[in-house]
Amino acid sequence: MIEPAPAVFAPTSDGRQFPVRRIFCVGRNYAAHAREMGRDPDREPPFFFTKWAEAVVPNGSIIPYPPATANFHYEAELVVAIGTGGRNIPVDDALGHVWGYATGNDLTRRDLQLAARDTGRPWDSGKNVEASAPLGLLHPVSAIGHPARGTIRLLVNEEVKQDADLADLIWSVPEIISTLSTLWTLEPGDLIFTGTPAGVGAVVTGDVVRVEIEGLTALTVTIGPAA
Ligand code: MN
Repeated sequence: MIEPAPAVFAPTSDGRQFPVRRIFCVGRNYAAHAREMGRDPDREPPFFFTKWAEAVVPNGSIIPYPPATANFHYEAELVVAIGTGGRNIPVDDALGHVWGYATGNDLTRRDLQLAARDTGRPWDSGKNVEASAPLGLLHPVSAIGHPARGTIRLLVNEEVKQDADLADLIWSVPEIISTLSTLWTLEPGDLIFTGTPAGVGAVVTGDVVRVEIEGLTALTVTIGPAA
């Protein structure tokens, strides 16, 4: 019989291994990014898409340039790791469900995502791509608390491409957790990519992409040759 797929783990800042269960991602959660994608940044309810846990790759990875795209994009994001599950979690209780935080990069086949969006089709082929969820070290809440403001930046080959503040999130981390938990029962090990600021763009083979969030370990990946 075939072997079961290996479990996915993400390293933590204190030397442990966090078991990754599922990946939820928030769409359009910074106003300036919603506008650059041609959408109204008004506070429409948050919406979500998912990636397989195995899309997680660690800091320092070489990401094969994926097939079927000519417009592979970076997206710097704050990532929330869930430690305690639940459903219908009130906003005021939401932070108590968080294990920790990390820098993340929601890599996207933008051409496929936009084609899907514009024809009312699912985003999976644009978003749920192998190695498309690079994740920096996970920092436990016990060490860093809950970052609600602070710089979030992305650099390609040391050139700043995204530069914003976590305070600019349209939907806050507690609001995201609360809404998400009305749709799915959150489980320990779930990750939430909270959305990207303005300035998204394409990468090519050889590019070095770094995500920096104040108070967290930076996340650097290199775009490799075609898969
Ligand atoms: Mn994103």
